[in-house]
Amino acid sequence: MMAHLNAAGWSAAQDAADADLVIVNSCGFIESAKQESINAVLGWKKLFPGKKILLAGCLAQRYMQELTESLPEVDGFFGVDDISGIVDAAVALLGIPPARKPPLIPNSYLLPSTSSLLQIEDLQVNFTVRRGNSFAQVHAVRGLSFTLNRGECLGIVGESGSGKSVSTLSVPGLLPKNAGVSGSILFDGKELQGLDAKALREYRGKKIGMIFQEPGRSYDPLQRMDSVFLETFRNSDPDITKEESSDRAAALLAETGLEQGRERLGNYPHQFSGGQLQRIGIALALAQGCELLIADEPTTALDVTIQKQIIDLLKTLRRTRDITIIFISHDIELVAEISDRIMVMYGGREMELNNSQEILNHPGHPYTKALLASSPRFGSHYSQERLSSIPGKIGDGTEEGCPFAPRCTQAQEHCFIELPHLAVNGNYEVRCWLEDKNGS
Ligand code: SF4
Repeated sequence: MMAHLNAAGWSAAQDAADADLVIVNSCGFIESAKQESINAVLGWKKLFPGKKILLAGCLAQRYMQELTESLPEVDGFFGVDDISGIVDAAVALLGIPPARKPPLIPNSYLLPSTSSLLQIEDLQVNFTVRRGNSFAQVHAVRGLSFTLNRGECLGIVGESGSGKSVSTLSVPGLLPKNAGVSGSILFDGKELQGLDAKALREYRGKKIGMIFQEPGRSYDPLQRMDSVFLETFRNSDPDITKEESSDRAAALLAETGLEQGRERLGNYPHQFSGGQLQRIGIALALAQGCELLIADEPTTALDVTIQKQIIDLLKTLRRTRDITIIFISHDIELVAEISDRIMVMYGGREMELNNSQEILNHPGHPYTKALLASSPRFGSHYSQERLSSIPGKIGDGTEEGCPFAPRCTQAQEHCFIELPHLAVNGNYEVRCWLEDKNGS
């Protein structure tokens, strides 16, 4: 018998107890190991001696060499796409004849459909800001286009000021009044750009849910949670009673993993931890049955173990509710854990887009490479090696050429003069003169 575990926590131990072979999704384990916390795989080995363990997932492939040296007890390491490799290893370890190969699911994600839920075309967002006695334009998003398929999770990565949050806040029309927006935002075939606030209320919360960084700041400190849920439900169901609201809220809180959710509906925001408030935020985002969930840095203010729980919760909800997700973060490795594809943004533009594993293992754009180089790696806490940082800061969006040129170690004269076009090669998109020259 075999167990495929998508989490490195001890709650999965019962599955492992009954199995001869345990396949562990590596991402959670590596995140734990990076934080010098519990070594889950070796823990399983101790708890269940004699079991075979395979470590699978995008991070397992990326750190295969380091993992092989530091975890000799593990029987194999596989990238998340290497289905045949995992099956063959499982067959060999369990001694199953090839004709009876077990049906393995190396990645628990649902395959997204090919029909699009969101299509953004040439999105431009400019803010009018006061500078001294005059006004200036800040170009936050400059000609962004992408398509999001139903059931897909798209990660958007970049530093503060790259335009990732502004571009997604423009979808439900949540930008401040000094923002000028142009381009097309097609949601489920309907144009949202240009709709007035009343029309957009039919989408906000009902079809498009949002969760944010620092969930505690989203709540009125004097409002109890039962009242927050009642207000939310009444947006789409004005006749709902308090009892019905409490029942539905309790069910949602149970679904998002908040213990004693019904009892805690009478509590105020300060009586919850950050992780609990984020679970409540997710429950509220789901309260009106949204199809698209925009998660804007939802784990940034949380400690790493709670981050992992929130990521696992979003993965589960994606599977059970079939929702489409945009996951925004500055942490590219965290984004890769949940996303099918990753778009890297800089200076309000798309710089690179590819499936998550390719972005992690074969980044093409100098900015993506710099982001990865500045991200802690497995085992780095044992070494004297310093993390590299990206010198300089993001520009104000007025530059003519490549926006990354002032910080790029590979910039050439031409890069400062002309913006590279977005080269498209199948599912891969990149904006860099170097990649263009290479014929990508
Ligand atoms: S176009 Fe030039 S400046 Fe921009 S990322 Fe490529 S090499 Fe660097």
